[in-house]
Amino acid sequence: MIEEKDEKPIKPPKRPLIYYAGIAALIIMLLNIFFFPSVLHRKVTEVPYNEFLDMIDAGKVDEVAYDAQASEIIFISGTEPRTAEIYSTGIWPDDGQRLLNQLRENPNIKFSSAIPTEKDPLFSFIISWILPIAFFFIIGELLNRMMMKKLKNGGFPGGNVMSFGKADAKVYVAAQTGKTFADVAGQDEAKEALAEVVDFLHDTKKYTEIGAKLPKGVLLVGPPGTGKTLLAKAVAGEAKVPFFSISGSEFVEMFVGMGAAKVRDLFKQANEKAPCIVFIDEIDAIGKKRDTSGMGGNDEREQTLNQLLAEMDGFDPSSGVVILAATNRPESLDAALLRPGRFDRRVPVELPDLGGREAILRVHAKNVKLAAGVDFGKIARMTAGASGAELANIINEAALRAVRMGRGEVLDSDLEESVEVVIAGYQRKNAVISNEEKRIVAYHEIGHALVAARQSNSAPVTKITIVPRTSGALGYTMQVDEGERSLMNSDEIKNKLATLTGGRAAEELVFGRATTGASNDIEQATKLARAMITRYGMSDEFGMVALETVNGRYLGGDTSLACSDETAAKIDSKVVDTVKAAHSKAISILTDNRQKLDELAEYLLEKETITGDEFMKILNS
Ligand code: ADP
Ligand code: MG
Ligand code: ZN
Repeated sequence: MIEEKDEKPIKPPKRPLIYYAGIAALIIMLLNIFFFPSVLHRKVTEVPYNEFLDMIDAGKVDEVAYDAQASEIIFISGTEPRTAEIYSTGIWPDDGQRLLNQLRENPNIKFSSAIPTEKDPLFSFIISWILPIAFFFIIGELLNRMMMKKLKNGGFPGGNVMSFGKADAKVYVAAQTGKTFADVAGQDEAKEALAEVVDFLHDTKKYTEIGAKLPKGVLLVGPPGTGKTLLAKAVAGEAKVPFFSISGSEFVEMFVGMGAAKVRDLFKQANEKAPCIVFIDEIDAIGKKRDTSGMGGNDEREQTLNQLLAEMDGFDPSSGVVILAATNRPESLDAALLRPGRFDRRVPVELPDLGGREAILRVHAKNVKLAAGVDFGKIARMTAGASGAELANIINEAALRAVRMGRGEVLDSDLEESVEVVIAGYQRKNAVISNEEKRIVAYHEIGHALVAARQSNSAPVTKITIVPRTSGALGYTMQVDEGERSLMNSDEIKNKLATLTGGRAAEELVFGRATTGASNDIEQATKLARAMITRYGMSDEFGMVALETVNGRYLGGDTSLACSDETAAKIDSKVVDTVKAAHSKAISILTDNRQKLDELAEYLLEKETITGDEFMKILNS
């Protein structure tokens, strides 16, 4: 990330305690001067002991006192008490009696018990009471500040001891996010929608004159890594206005009421800096649906959300404050947040399509030295379903690989290998796998490939490998579609199911038994077969009835069953039937092509990695 500038919070006129302590000290000093002036007029001068003895003899000493605690003698020389000078001196050890005799010789000397010096009661009161108290206050204050830093502005609600409840909103000034729309590839629809926001911030009058109201809030929704945060930064870069950025989780505080205070503060700052953009990343952290059961609600989050709703209603959109927010769980947001007048515009930021993937690869490859003939189109085809963040990672992995290989530029093969690294992990070069296991893996992979190739409408096989990967895969078969696919028909799904079962089918056919190697295939096949019945309406029995609902579409798409127990049992048996049918289809394809299966498996065993072309050549020979 680029430099970010911390906005100095506007300090309320709060005075530290030391200020009051200072005032108290001043008052006491003034009292001293006007009401106890004698104190100041008396100076204590230290004299050597012998000089003191001489002064006694010379009759210059009028009054003597002994301070046992300090074991020193205090004496007055000069008769007027107010102007008399006070002296002090240490006493010579064991000289007490002799000194007493000497003093008695001079009848004018008074042995008084106490001579007021400048160590008067008031002064010692300050020393012994006020100073320690002030000292503890200062220490307390310092500790308090340290705690505040630790708690990241945590504190007690409503407390005015310090500037509790300041939002740590960071201000990105236009040039400082360093991102523009040119950095965001693909996502043209999202950019278009946001360009209007940018234009609004540039030229508010154009819109208000015609009577158009611009949206107050724009919600970016989409799967992780598709560039939502990046888009928001690009908007700030394009708009050249202050950009307040805060993450939803920063609002969630230890202490009830703090989140709400932060929201208030954020909007106060934003209103002062308008026109500006407020960006709330991961808004689902505070915007979750409020609990309707009335039990065990999360007070802190609700208060924060209520404050956010109130603030969003409270400001005038023509003031030029636009709120952007991003989330990958839009379905979990409170309905009140989404109604018109709040986040009334929703901008989907979906996974990139084929063209988008190629564009993203190109953007990230801009600063990478590429060899001639690098085919981004092919890499884009290989990476169906990858997010922008994954694509950026692929480019970087390729560059790292080129350096590891001691090359000065990135080759096509680096990119291909890094796609596989991102999909399946690194190659495990020194993994020890017995020849027997290698044979099983080779047959398994050729089983997948052969079933795929012998069905129409299957994506072509592009690569088969039995080099193990760090993800735990002992081998895999890569199929890459020619173009972009958005729909799949039921035949294609059945073909895919057969392909998924092809690996296990080959093992059974050749070795007569199953291994654990097919666990991932089984999982995928089951999911797909279940989705056919419960979500795609592709079964005769249930037709177009939704039997499952998808939760978190952008986050893996977990499903939950929405049907009776009897139906669930029927679904289960239907899923079993579907997968079994696919499996028997795979068995029959492989039985029909048994000779090719052996030939290809032997070839793969020898080469370890073969291309789709090699595979097709042997298959068609
Ligand atoms: P999100 O906020 O949607 O989870 P980010 O905006 O944080 O994702 O994206 C993470 C990274 O992925 C970005 O910093 C960028 O490098 C890359 N990226 C994602 N989408 C794109 C895109 N459309 N164009 C260019 N780079 C992208
Ligand atoms: Mg993000
Ligand atoms: Zn498999």
